[in-house]
Amino acid sequence: MTVTAEIVPNAPTLSDLRALRAAAMPSMFDLPPEVELLRDEVREFAQTVVRPRVLANDLAAADDLDWDVVRAGHEIGLLRLTVPKEIGGRGMGVLGVAVAMEEIAAVCPSTALIFGASLLGQSAVLFSGDQQLQARFVPPFLGDEPVLACNAITEEVSGCDLLIPENAELAADVMTARRDGDGYVLNGIKRFITNGKVAQWATVFANVEGHPGATGLTMFVVPLDSEGVTRGPVADKMGYRACLGTTLVFEDVRVPGENVVLGEGNGWSFMSIQSNQARSIVAAISTGVARGAFEYAKEFAGERVQAGKPLYEHQFTARKLAEMAAKVEASRLLYLQGAYQADNMLPAPVYGPAVAKMFADRAAIEVSEEAMSILGARGYCREYGVEKLVRDSFGARIYEGTPEVLALAITGALYGRRV
Ligand SMILES: Cc1cc2nc3c(=O)[nH]c(=O)nc-3n(C[C@H](O)[C@H](O)[C@H](O)COP(=O)(O)OP(=O)(O)OC[C@H]3O[C@@H](n4cnc5c(N)ncnc54)[C@H](O)[C@@H]3O)c2cc1C
Repeated sequence: MTVTAEIVPNAPTLSDLRALRAAAMPSMFDLPPEVELLRDEVREFAQTVVRPRVLANDLAAADDLDWDVVRAGHEIGLLRLTVPKEIGGRGMGVLGVAVAMEEIAAVCPSTALIFGASLLGQSAVLFSGDQQLQARFVPPFLGDEPVLACNAITEEVSGCDLLIPENAELAADVMTARRDGDGYVLNGIKRFITNGKVAQWATVFANVEGHPGATGLTMFVVPLDSEGVTRGPVADKMGYRACLGTTLVFEDVRVPGENVVLGEGNGWSFMSIQSNQARSIVAAISTGVARGAFEYAKEFAGERVQAGKPLYEHQFTARKLAEMAAKVEASRLLYLQGAYQADNMLPAPVYGPAVAKMFADRAAIEVSEEAMSILGARGYCREYGVEKLVRDSFGARIYEGTPEVLALAITGALYGRRV
């Protein structure tokens, strides 16, 4: 039997069909238009405001904050990204924040963290739906002058024990909250708190008396000019030098009962929701570090000639560049997926954001190290930019879950112990 192809008059061509399909089914990876708009605005801010100051801010004293950069970020709404539009914010979810953070981190991850840590501090107050807390603590972010918040979990004695539910009972010397009349009295020492030195207020996790370890965590909003709060010293970090990580000492600090967020004893559950949201955002910061380092290496390998041809034409370098590109792309897809889940899933997802952060944190270290090697001696010198990203790349591997903390979260989800 012979099969003949019939020509159907006016049949759509292949390109018509492609166009029809594209119109009917936008790519699953398309960003919502308002997030695309935000990405472009933040890219412009990162390239024109942050980039010229990167070197100076990296070399500045450990306790110096570049308020001009913060002010310029505030002008485009970075400190009110997650505040609802109805009251003057930009109404972004985790996805919008993550995409914005990638753009800044591709230039300077520590500048990204100034904004990220402040948004993290605000997140509990916004999430709580508590109108009296919101009326008192959100308006400062809507004014003309920039104001920062921070989130204080890590302690002098307890670090990861505060993040691993199975270890909470064993956490030692956890900050205490003693009931006193209609309020609480806080005592303890928090460490490495980003923005702690300069923030107007902090969300602080403390254990209510009578609970072992960290099983009675309650979250409080504490104005940092309260009597009994001492700020400092600022940590002299290897990287992330543009943002300040500070010790906060609380000595008999009185906090009214209405400053409790989401009710006494609910600190643990909120912390896990907050971590899941923050992990996709930190994965985006690591993606930015990998991308920033890759961009330096790509440009250099395209121009630098050795043995009569550009470096990228040498097969060993080509292999490195291809793997670096793949790691940047994969990191981005994972954080977008984690952020999408964090914005849309109940209960809050553990697995997706943790996988995204684990992969992207590792990619940032590997890609920046390869970029440094591609630039040769220039990669080892400050003025070429890669050396700073190598130092910065190790930071995100520590905060919001070390690889070990993430591994426990991931296997917990795989074996059904946690969602
Ligand atoms: C740039 C930066 C910004 C930060 N910003 C903030 C902030 O704003 N707010 C805040 O609260 N904190 C912040 N931190 C602190 C950070 O969250 C903690 O450093 C982190 O949680 C680890 O705690 P730790 O340093 O006490 O380490 P430890 O808990 O002492 O851990 C030391 C090592 O032991 C491993 N380990 C611990 N427990 C286990 C276990 N059960 N199984 C296997 N391995 C384990 C850890 O993975 C790590 O490798 C920041 C840190 C950095 C570097």
